[in-house]
Amino acid sequence: ADERVATTIDKVCAVIPDYPEPGIIFRDLTPLFADGAALREVVDALLRRFEGQFDVVAGVEARGFLLASAAAYAAGVGVLPVRKEGKLPRETYAESYQLEYGTATLEIHRDDIPAGARVLVLDDILATGGTLGAAVKLVERAGLHVAGIGVVMELEGLAGRSNLTGHEVSALYTV
Ligand code: AMP
Repeated sequence: ADERVATTIDKVCAVIPDYPEPGIIFRDLTPLFADGAALREVVDALLRRFEGQFDVVAGVEARGFLLASAAAYAAGVGVLPVRKEGKLPRETYAESYQLEYGTATLEIHRDDIPAGARVLVLDDILATGGTLGAAVKLVERAGLHVAGIGVVMELEGLAGRSNLTGHEVSALYTV
């Protein structure tokens, strides 16, 4: 089944050289989200790897939301949105992290989920790991437990896992 899902991801991922700037190979997963059978296969594969290990699913804005809401619905649990700065109206925790140029900030609400809950954190792509590293810190600052991190694709050359040490990271496809 794992080999089958990797084949599916390989088939549906659009590879765009030099986007958004020269030298970047952009991996576009919108065709995956547009394909009902492929989306279900991918979400089910992520859930299988963490079955029985989580109480809520967190998704990182914006593409992580698509995966997290589908996974949460399928598993019968809730969603915790990890949002870009300035979008959440109540008290938040905030974490900044390095981008290629400058920094970015993610936030979560302090009290949406009861302390101690086990959180599965999902995003589409693990690149440098800056984004997921910040998401994991936020989950922990909110008193929650990181059950694991699931991504559709891992860009291995960028060593993103080094920002996520101590956590189980599961990637359905590695390139
Ligand atoms: P990072 O913080 O470097 O791990 O990158 C995180 C986010 O940037 C991921 O959630 C992706 O959505 C996006 N991203 C980074 N590199 C790429 C790439 N080569 N192709 C498509 N998306 C990317």
